[in-house]
Amino acid sequence: MAEQLIYVNGKFVPRDQACVSVFDHGFLYGDGVFEGIRAYNGRVFRLKDHIERFYDSAAAIGLDLGLSREEMSDVVTESCAVNDLANAYIRLVASRGAGDLGLSPKSCKKPTIVCIAGQIALYPQSLYDNGLEMVTASTTRNFVNSLNPRVKSLNYLNNILAKIEADRAGSMEALMINDTGYVVECTGDNIFLWRHGRLITPPAWMGALEGITRKTVLELARGMGLPVAEEPVSRFDVYSAEEMFLTGTAAELIPVVNVDARKIGDGKPGPMFKKLLEAFRERTKETDGAAIRGQA
Ligand code: PMP
Repeated sequence: MAEQLIYVNGKFVPRDQACVSVFDHGFLYGDGVFEGIRAYNGRVFRLKDHIERFYDSAAAIGLDLGLSREEMSDVVTESCAVNDLANAYIRLVASRGAGDLGLSPKSCKKPTIVCIAGQIALYPQSLYDNGLEMVTASTTRNFVNSLNPRVKSLNYLNNILAKIEADRAGSMEALMINDTGYVVECTGDNIFLWRHGRLITPPAWMGALEGITRKTVLELARGMGLPVAEEPVSRFDVYSAEEMFLTGTAAELIPVVNVDARKIGDGKPGPMFKKLLEAFRERTKETDGAAIRGQA
């Protein structure tokens, strides 16, 4: 197999030569933003939405990316094309760039832009068939007024601390609670409940990333005529839900069957989850995504 090529500041370089400075403030301070994107069948899924979120995150931290949205979109599609990928997981990263030691970004003259496109590592089928068991993390989700979780920032320590709790509990995910005690999301996925005939997900303003998979599921559910609500979710709502599932670019939709030793519904992936996963997979086959040169 040909060596993987990585986009670094305007050039594609072989993976073992893809380097950034140790003075990069992304490395020193986690000062930057990123995206996790997926390509299906020669097209990048909802690239426009990912680019929009990337620029929103950059705007929120006052980072000028130095490229137009069209140029940034081309970086993503070309990263797939040069690696001959029709299906891929793509990591787009922008950091404040190299500067002096010291927090101020004033010493960073230009951002570092990196794009890594590679094979997607799929989750085991058993997770989709049997569902996930998980716990609530004791680590509180970042306060909206500290580092808003809507910013997909390079500073993921809040999520990593909760992920360590998930690992310790033998689970791939943990539920995260905000400063007011409401459930907001997981360490790297959004959450949905099916409860008393409605599909419910916590609103982003309470402290959740506006997931692209979340947005797609909301659109699909509304299209099916299901009652949908973005409203505060407590652990009571979680424990008493009939169904629960997580959404994320890598995971797509994953059912949750047990939280904090409470069985969710009948402890098996439910019909709403199955219906929405099927609709989501159909949605990924649509040909409205950004075409990858030589693949679409
Ligand atoms: N929440 C967090 C904290 C995330 O990092 C992610 C992305 N991995 C998500 C939710 C899901 O977002 P998306 O559907 O855009 O992948």
